[in-house]
Amino acid sequence: MIWCPRCDQGWVTRARVPGEPGTFLLCYECDTVWVDREPHAGPPFLTLEEYLARFRLDGLWSNIELLEKEPGA
Ligand SMILES: [Zn+2]
Repeated sequence: MIWCPRCDQGWVTRARVPGEPGTFLLCYECDTVWVDREPHAGPPFLTLEEYLARFRLDGLWSNIELLEKEPGA
């Protein structure tokens, strides 16, 4: 797993929106999402809430499926 380059506080996990193709990367701590690119410390930034709005979903972790477990969690 990758340590978040943006907040430097948490791990980045791979996740997906159930029923949608493709996966994305998400920080456990700052909720930053990266789609189609590796985690990066610079903008443009996308939040989980903004990303899920594309699917007309609220920005809740219960709306996504985590594909990797947080180390030590
Ligand atoms: Zn982060």
